[in-house]
Amino acid sequence: MTLALHGVGIDGSRPVAIGEAFMLNREPVLAPAQIPAHQVPVELDRLDAALACARRHLEEVRGQIPVGTPKHIAEFIDAHLLMMTDSALVDAARDLIRERSVNASWALQAQRDTLVEIFDRMEDAYLRTRRDDVDHVVRQIQLFLDAEAHTDVLADADVAGRVIVAEDLTPADTILLRNRGVAAFIVEHGGPMSHTAILARSLDIPAVMGVHRALQRLREGELLVVDAETGTVLTELEPALLEHYRARLASFDAHRRDLRRLVREPSVSRDGVPVVLLANLELPEDVTAARDNGAAGVGLYRTEFLYMNRDTLPDEDEHLATYLGIIRGLDGIPLTIRTLDLGADKQIPDTGFHPTRSNPALGLRAIRLCLQEPALFLPQLRAILRASAHGPVRLMIPMISGMAEVNAVLGLIAEARRDMRREGVAFDPLMPIGGMIEVPAAALMAGALARRLDFLSIGTNDLIQYTLAIDRVDDTVSYLFDPLHPAVIRLIKHVIDAATAMRTPVSMCGEMAGDPRYTPLLLGLGLRELSMQPGSLLEVKHRMRRCDVGALTRTLSDLVARLDDMPARALLDALEACLDD
Ligand code: PEP
Ligand code: MG
Repeated sequence: MTLALHGVGIDGSRPVAIGEAFMLNREPVLAPAQIPAHQVPVELDRLDAALACARRHLEEVRGQIPVGTPKHIAEFIDAHLLMMTDSALVDAARDLIRERSVNASWALQAQRDTLVEIFDRMEDAYLRTRRDDVDHVVRQIQLFLDAEAHTDVLADADVAGRVIVAEDLTPADTILLRNRGVAAFIVEHGGPMSHTAILARSLDIPAVMGVHRALQRLREGELLVVDAETGTVLTELEPALLEHYRARLASFDAHRRDLRRLVREPSVSRDGVPVVLLANLELPEDVTAARDNGAAGVGLYRTEFLYMNRDTLPDEDEHLATYLGIIRGLDGIPLTIRTLDLGADKQIPDTGFHPTRSNPALGLRAIRLCLQEPALFLPQLRAILRASAHGPVRLMIPMISGMAEVNAVLGLIAEARRDMRREGVAFDPLMPIGGMIEVPAAALMAGALARRLDFLSIGTNDLIQYTLAIDRVDDTVSYLFDPLHPAVIRLIKHVIDAATAMRTPVSMCGEMAGDPRYTPLLLGLGLRELSMQPGSLLEVKHRMRRCDVGALTRTLSDLVARLDDMPARALLDALEACLDD
C-alpha cells in the first residue's frame, strides 16, 4: 500500500520528481571524549589536518559552481570557509582540547552546542536558521576527523537521477549533488527559509523539507515520488498512482517546452487587453533570466542584496555601477529600483545600523530605517538619480505607512536634485517615483498616495502579513497565509480602484502576482501590470492569454459583494469559467 510522508514542499519550477532513494546517512562517530594529556598535541595536529582537508574540499566545490549560478550560492560556501577560521568555533575547540584533554571531535561538538544554543535563543526566525551553518561546518570537519571520512558515502556514489534522503544537507553537498544530476532532495530538518531550501529553489531541484525520521522510514533503493507542490513523499506506490505521476512529469516537461514558444507572442488577453508582465530581480545576474523569459521590464529590483555578506556599506559609486550594469543588460526596457528594505526578514551584518528590535517586522525597517539614517539612504538616492540619466529608471519606496514618509522622501529627492544640478551631475528630472502598498494603512490611503506618487505597486507578501497578523517567516503560522482572504482581496481591490480613479498606474510585485492560480482574479480586479520571479513569467503569460478580461471583470463585480461568505475555491472556480479550455 502507498505510504505517504509529509513536509514542506520547495518547488523551483519542477513540481515532481521520481527516482530511487539514496540514503545519505553520515552521523559522525564520536570516540570517547577523554584523551591522555600527552596525546593533546597530536589531537591539535589532527584538528588542523582535518580543517585543511575540509577547506580544500570546500574550495574544490566552490570551483565547480556552474557559470551563471546566482552569486549568493558561492557566498554560502565563502561563509563556511570563513567559519573554519573563525575563533568562536575553531579556536574555542582548540582551547577545549588543551584545557580539558578531550578529543577534537568532542571539542567541536561541545562548541557547536554552545553556539547553537545562542542561535536558538535569537528572536529572528531567519537568523535562527543560521544555526544550520554551524552544524554544517562542524559536521564537515568531523567527517575529516573520522577514519571513515576519507571514504565519504558521497565520494564515488552514482547519484544521477536519485532522490537524496538526508538528515540535513550542507550548501556544498547541495551544489555537488546538483552537478551530479540528482532528481530531488528529502531532508529531515529545516523549513522553507533554510539554506538547503533557498539553494534547492534557486538550483531548480524539487525538495521536501522537514520530513521527520525520513532516514528511518525510507529504504535505500526504493522508488520514491517527490511531490514538491504538496510537500509529499510517496513510496510503495500502487502501479496506477505511479503511472499517474509518470504521466504528470511527462506532461509537465512537454508543457515547459511548449511555454518557450510564448516568449515572442504578444502579451495580450484572449479579448485583446494588453497586460504588462515584468520581472522581479534579486541579483543583477537575474537580468539574463528576465530577458530569456520575455520580461517587458523590471517591476521590482530588491537592492538589499547589495548590502549582504559584507562588512562595509556600498557607496554611491558602487550603487551606480551596479544599476548601470543592470540597465545595460535590460537594453532599453524599464528598471524599477526599490530603495533599501532592510530589517525584519532582510538582515545585514553589523554595519552600525540596528534595525532589529523585539518585533522586527513592526520595527525600524525599510523606509523608516532609511529616513533615520541618511548615511545609509542618501548615497542610494543619488545613485538612482544618476542612473536615471542612462536609461528608463523608476524609484520605488518600500513599506510606506503614511503620507509623512512620502513627503520626507520627496523632500530628500528634491534636495538631492538641487545639489546635483549645482554639481553639474546629470539625472532625469521626470524619473517616476512610486510607492509600495504593503501596509493596510497605505492600502486604505491609496487615493491620497496615488495623487502624490507616479505609480503604486502592491507588495502582497507584506500586505498579507500585516493584514492577517501573521509573521511571514514563522512556519508555525504559515497555514494562515492566505492571499484569498476576503480582507486581502478587498484591500487589493480598494488600491486598484483608487489608483485607477486617479489614473495612476498600479501593479503588483508580491509572490501572488507570479502564481498563475491568481491571474484571472487579479485581471478581473483591474490589474494590468504584474511583476514576478522570471521563472513564472511564461506560466502566467500562458494563463493570462486564455483569459477573457471583460468577462472576468463582470463576474468579479457580481462576486465582490458576496466575498465574505464565499469559499476561496468557489471564487476561483467561478472565474475559471472566463478562461478558454
Ligand atoms: C512584498 O512584500 O510583497 C514584496 C514584494 O517585498 P518583499 O517580499 O521584498 O518584502
Ligand atoms: Mg515587502
